[in-house]
Amino acid sequence: MTRNKLRLAIIGAGPAGIYAADILLKSERHFDVSIDLFDHLPAPYGLVRYGVAPDHPRIKGIITALREVLDRGDIRIFGNVRFGEDLTLDDLKRHYNAVIFATGAVRDASLNIPGIDLEGSYGAADFVSWYDGHPDYPREWPLEAQSVAVIGNGNVALDVSRILAKHPEDLLPTEIPANVYEGLQRSPVTDVHVFGRRGPTSVKFTPLELRELGELRDVDMIVHDEDFDYDDAARAAVAGNKQVLVIDKVLQQWRQREVGSASRRLHLHFFAKPVEVVGDEHGQVAAFRWERTAPDGEGGVVGTGEIREIPVQALYRAVGYYGSPLPGIPFDKRLGVIPNHEGQVLIRDKESGKSRQMYGVYCTGWIKRGPVGLIGHTKSDAMETIKHVINDLGNWWRPESPSEESVVELLESRGIRWTDLDGWHRLDEHEQALGAAEERARIKVVPRDEMVSISRGEV
Ligand SMILES: Cc1cc2nc3c(=O)[nH]c(=O)nc-3n(C[C@H](O)[C@H](O)[C@H](O)COP(=O)(O)OP(=O)(O)OC[C@H]3O[C@@H](n4cnc5c(N)ncnc54)[C@H](O)[C@@H]3O)c2cc1C
Repeated sequence: MTRNKLRLAIIGAGPAGIYAADILLKSERHFDVSIDLFDHLPAPYGLVRYGVAPDHPRIKGIITALREVLDRGDIRIFGNVRFGEDLTLDDLKRHYNAVIFATGAVRDASLNIPGIDLEGSYGAADFVSWYDGHPDYPREWPLEAQSVAVIGNGNVALDVSRILAKHPEDLLPTEIPANVYEGLQRSPVTDVHVFGRRGPTSVKFTPLELRELGELRDVDMIVHDEDFDYDDAARAAVAGNKQVLVIDKVLQQWRQREVGSASRRLHLHFFAKPVEVVGDEHGQVAAFRWERTAPDGEGGVVGTGEIREIPVQALYRAVGYYGSPLPGIPFDKRLGVIPNHEGQVLIRDKESGKSRQMYGVYCTGWIKRGPVGLIGHTKSDAMETIKHVINDLGNWWRPESPSEESVVELLESRGIRWTDLDGWHRLDEHEQALGAAEERARIKVVPRDEMVSISRGEV
């Protein structure tokens, strides 16, 4: 091992992992760098490919910037390799000086109310994975409900509601997989109800995404006058925050609109605290019950004791994402993140109970700071982590086998069918060709085996 070269493994080829690699390569430093980027998916870009909604092509376009980084050719990528199964922490210590975990968050946070596990009650993350064609999710999605409840007042709740309410023909120009289009075409949905426990001035929606709902073809936006009786705290929020001001403006416009002619409706209910998902005799979602809340005068809300109920046949909870623990790596169960100080992973000493740095191990992105923030935030996040990777040079691991070939030999010896940058180009071109045949930009390949075979040039 020599200290004039850093062999770095990054686990996770989402925006956080790619930005971290890019920032390190461009940084001022006194040593060479060789980076291997691993992802358990056969294609890179994480939630930009498998989270951002297909009808948001401008955001999906961030992939172009990420692709430019990979296409430079100074980062090796190994797709279809899962940390914890195909590759362990001991393996990494044998071949690298350090590792950055950029594994994001893909699961739904839980919502502990009675009935949440009933048939017909879903996590938004699972639905998003279905409509974005994630290879590890079922290809069929039960869309049999006429009335649907969506719990949450963030952008994911808006994505889910929009995809449910939008007429599927309007999604055709996007990259939605064929099975998703067919599934949505069969949906009998007429009403989507979105619930948030606080008032209109406390939502986490961003104005652009909210406004977009009002532009959906043949979908009426329904808001309720009773939710707009603002108290001083709400009025102060509108006056003091530009984002809240714009959101309020959008909602006020909807209050004035004529409704009743559209075949589908999207209802926004504020001051609604989830109480129960009510089931029928078959254990199927039949209604959603909530408690009306009221402003507490300080920007928060309190329960009023008034219980309301609405019949729905399906319910989606969009109450946040949650990270997954990684074998051998500390995990904060409460927050769903890897415990860290500015990206340096912390481990608790069993004897003293104190936290100390776990040398050679770093994290960045959603697994570092939790599932909040836009793609751009992962860049500043990566800068912070990379600063420590560079400064910690004296504490890097001393691998016994640091050569670039040794990792390839390891994966080969384990029979792992990994995909590389050329493979991603092959899959990318294949998907674009599928799209071109139907005058669409792209049609995603969904089954993992097919993705891998195409990438490896086997078909
Ligand atoms: C539904 C949804 C919509 C969104 N829409 C927008 C939007 O419109 N605009 C915006 O700016 N932001 C949006 N975001 C936020 C954005 O997606 C995140 O900020 C960003 O993707 C976080 O990046 P990340 O790299 O930390 O995680 P991710 O993008 O999740 O990437 C993590 C990567 O790690 C890989 N991985 C995980 N575990 C392992 C393992 N054990 N071994 C190997 N690889 C592993 C995963 O396969 C994945 O590729 C959205 C998020 C969601 C959930």
